[in-house]
Amino acid sequence: MEKGEFKELKQDGGGIFKAIHASSTLEYGPNEVKTGTPINLYIMTNGILGDVILGKKIYIRFESVNEATAVGENLTLDFSENGIDNQIVFRIKNSNELNKVYNSIRQYCNLGYREIENIENNIPQKSKRQEEKERLKQFKKDHVPYCPKCHSTSIHYIEKRKRLSMGRTIVGGTVGSLVNPLGTAAGAMMGGLTSNKMKKGEVKCLNCGHTWKL
Ligand SMILES: [Zn+2]
Repeated sequence: MEKGEFKELKQDGGGIFKAIHASSTLEYGPNEVKTGTPINLYIMTNGILGDVILGKKIYIRFESVNEATAVGENLTLDFSENGIDNQIVFRIKNSNELNKVYNSIRQYCNLGYREIENIENNIPQKSKRQEEKERLKQFKKDHVPYCPKCHSTSIHYIEKRKRLSMGRTIVGGTVGSLVNPLGTAAGAMMGGLTSNKMKKGEVKCLNCGHTWKL
């Protein structure tokens, strides 16, 4: 940008003394500006001004800003310039300055209020947990069985063959013999096997191997 043009923009934008200011360093941006270069950021009434000390001037009109995000110390601006999508990232160490700059950019660009995302708070993980909660809620609603340990729906129903065959042996021994001393016990067991064990077996998760009873 030409010096004269820049000066004009500066004046049109209300002058830098009235503007919201932040000291930043470039984290990511145009090839001409090196990463780590100190840039004075000014939020003017007509756009965002990046004053590279002894160098290039960066000017982004509010209309060209598609999105502004702030995570930790980084302020990311996604903007379109002559139909080309661009991105620039400023690092602003002073949280007060970052807050003011971020708020005013979102305001000027009509993006709505949003808090600065704290890296330590790990917001993405939090929302993942919320997502999982909702997924499980839906499973319960739709009666979809899932592993209680890893929440996978790839589960396998195992018939308790061993117990069933044992049951049959007892049945074989008791049938036709009412005076069998084990009759009562076997009958109770048989009853138990036919009414419960035949239907209710074990379920194995194919994802984590966890087994549980239905
Ligand atoms: Zn599992």
